[in-house]
Amino acid sequence: MTDHIEDSPIKKKNRGGRPPNSIWEDINKRKAVGSGKFAASCKYCNNTWSRSEVSKLEEHLLNHCPDASAAVVRRYMTKVMEWQDKSK
Ligand SMILES: [Zn+2]
Repeated sequence: MTDHIEDSPIKKKNRGGRPPNSIWEDINKRKAVGSGKFAASCKYCNNTWSRSEVSKLEEHLLNHCPDASAAVVRRYMTKVMEWQDKSK
């Protein structure tokens, strides 16, 4: 039997169409309050921030958001690992 299918069964959804700052799909951006800081609220839980950075909001979705789905958490896991790696 050489029925060896290497193609992973992972869903290929939205392949290649990933916007650079897709965090705004999960976070409601209110207004910018200084360089790289935003007033924002979480679309899943009721958390709000008067000033926060994208990386903090990503961290919220990854570690602290009680209502984010597993798919959302996994998306941010990758992103946060990337910027943690760069900040070394
Ligand atoms: Zn949240």
